[in-house]
Amino acid sequence: MKPSILDKLKQGIVLGDGGYLLALENRGYVQAGPFTPEVTIEHPNALLALHQEFVNAGAEVLQVLTFYASENKLAQIGYANRLEEINRAAVKIARQAAGKDVLVAGDLCLTWKYVEGDSKSHDECRKLFDDQIRYQAAEGVDFWICETFLHVGEAKIAIECARKTKLPVMATMAFEGPKTRDGKTPAEAAKILEDAGADIVGSNCWQDPTRMLPAIEQIRKAVKCFVAAQPVGYRCSDEIPFFTGQKGFPDKLNPYHLTRYELGDFAQKAKDLGVNYIGGCCGCEGSHIRQMARVLGKKPSELREWKVDYQAPQSATEAYKSLRDKQ
Ligand SMILES: [Zn+2]
Repeated sequence: MKPSILDKLKQGIVLGDGGYLLALENRGYVQAGPFTPEVTIEHPNALLALHQEFVNAGAEVLQVLTFYASENKLAQIGYANRLEEINRAAVKIARQAAGKDVLVAGDLCLTWKYVEGDSKSHDECRKLFDDQIRYQAAEGVDFWICETFLHVGEAKIAIECARKTKLPVMATMAFEGPKTRDGKTPAEAAKILEDAGADIVGSNCWQDPTRMLPAIEQIRKAVKCFVAAQPVGYRCSDEIPFFTGQKGFPDKLNPYHLTRYELGDFAQKAKDLGVNYIGGCCGCEGSHIRQMARVLGKKPSELREWKVDYQAPQSATEAYKSLRDKQ
């Protein structure tokens, strides 16, 4: 039997995985715009390969690809009636890639249905989450990740629904600026999530590493529970500090891509702040996770020994080193 996520976190930092929808969009399997995950039933091998890429890079958890697999989101592409199939397939594929060592996290995310102060909308969110939980739990997940919430209120509903399964719960907010849409600072939001029963709280998506770190620092000071940080691998700007607001979103993001070393640097800084769960979100692929694994002292698949000879080059890397050194 696998250890629980909480036992693993007690032993040390846990490395998460990277982003799925943007990576699969880039490969042609996901539609930019709705970003719904019908890839789980239409191109399962593409998703399986990406999960395997993260495991190979050193990820210790795989998030099932059920982001935007709520009924209202699937209805956008005419797939509301395939809710069960899509949610179940996502868990099956992740479990296949995870094998016996890697944990599988069920996934819930923002629905865009939540309206502050409107209890009818809250009931609607509750139903959307309960439906996804039912199908994912039936396939077997190890814990829950409730992620990318813009309203603390909606995250609280997701925690409430996920806790009914008795499995551990992580809840992370996405920040468009200094406060959530319902007016909470990262510290206030994190405390609310902890008080609502989340075992791990923090931030994911929307912000790049540079802009996420100050929020995470606040969160670490505000709560006693475990803290998670999973930034995007795309550069944001001071004017618009989140990637979904950049001119290149949703399908011209290539020039914004951060290098693996920028994510590795983030992993080191997050570790120094006392973050317990470190991973990546949109834009973070295998190379980013592998570099984070190295920085955190994990053991990703190793490189082969390579006989380098700059006098008798047999690759561009050797041949043009002097040119690059000048730049
Ligand atoms: Zn993301």
